[in-house]
Amino acid sequence: MSVNERTYIMIKPDGVQRNLVGKIIARFEERGYKLIALKLVHATPEHLEKHYEDLKGKGFFPGLIKYMASGPVVAMVWQGLDAVKTGRVMLGATNPLASPIGSIRGDYALSVGRNICHGSDSVESAEKEIALWFPEGIVQWTSELEPWVL
Ligand code: ADP
Ligand code: MG
Repeated sequence: MSVNERTYIMIKPDGVQRNLVGKIIARFEERGYKLIALKLVHATPEHLEKHYEDLKGKGFFPGLIKYMASGPVVAMVWQGLDAVKTGRVMLGATNPLASPIGSIRGDYALSVGRNICHGSDSVESAEKEIALWFPEGIVQWTSELEPWVL
């Protein structure tokens, strides 16, 4: 558990197409996390294959890459207490039908193949994913008004 833990959160093409960007960002802001990097990216299949390299052998892999390359995604880095684990709880389960109501997937999605949002599953994968999606690095900023939730 770390105070300034970083996680990579990505709104997938279906989340962008369904105009859920603002709602998803609001959930992380309202929970108390700090947005430290954000961009809209239409990723290439090659880039997405690197992002999902652990799933390369799976039958759904080609379909997953096609889905993820079908439109822009919102790539974000959120920072704060236990960001990786809490980010996953906020997302819900991989299968939206197994996701609790109140989670992002539980509230907005039905299908495992169209599940709206990605979140890093460990601190190690967060570091790897942040380096892959933000090779230019992240500029640190500090708010004048530091919130009481760190
Ligand atoms: P998560 O995104 O919850 O970390 P995984 O890393 O296991 O889940 O899988 C990555 C993504 O691949 C999922 O979010 C989903 O979009 C897709 N996926 C996983 N399992 C399936 C499946 N059985 N059929 C279709 N797509 C799947
Ligand atoms: Mg995963």
